[in-house]
Amino acid sequence: MGEREEKIMDQLKLGKFIAEERKRKKYTQRQLADILGISDKTISKWERGNGFPEISLLLPLCNELEISVNELLSGERLSEADYKEKAEENMVSFIKEKEENKIKMQLSLIVGGIAIVSFLTLILVVCMYTDVMSVPVKSVLVGIACLIFMVGFSVVKHGGRTIGYYKCKKCGETFVPSFGSYLIGINASSARVLKCPCCNKRSWCKKVLAKEE
Ligand SMILES: [Zn+2]
Repeated sequence: MGEREEKIMDQLKLGKFIAEERKRKKYTQRQLADILGISDKTISKWERGNGFPEISLLLPLCNELEISVNELLSGERLSEADYKEKAEENMVSFIKEKEENKIKMQLSLIVGGIAIVSFLTLILVVCMYTDVMSVPVKSVLVGIACLIFMVGFSVVKHGGRTIGYYKCKKCGETFVPSFGSYLIGINASSARVLKCPCCNKRSWCKKVLAKEE
């Protein structure tokens, strides 16, 4: 369908809708026209899909027909049940994502904690038994300790960057920062200075565990 045909279809739908709602309220075209202070020819025109109510008439018309402007523009009644169901679905998925990300975050912190404890234990062992250990054994243990530390550090950093989102303070966009921008971003508690991919501005972006709809 072309743009022009679509527009005509929309107008027909809207006209039909206005006629239906007017009849539901038991108004004649004349009665509704008098209330709105316009001619009944204008109402007849709208209902035939031939013209659209002026902006200044939208609110009075909607009030009189007891519909929302949104419904008038959609050319149909928006079911409250559908609307509510959709809102609830969004809520459930929001809570679910938040819970899942909370667990992931905790796991990554536990891995980090275990890594630090292991690192410190190995270093402590090397220091305590430094007289009885040969140099190669010491080097291997220190090497392992550093490796464990590095792995723990990367897991925590990767988790901090990819679990959940950062919310831009300027435009409100939620995003996952790139590795580079995350690494150089100054941080304090749960916020970090990042460049937003949406508005390209740098701000203190707050960590959020789930995207709000
Ligand atoms: Zn932004």
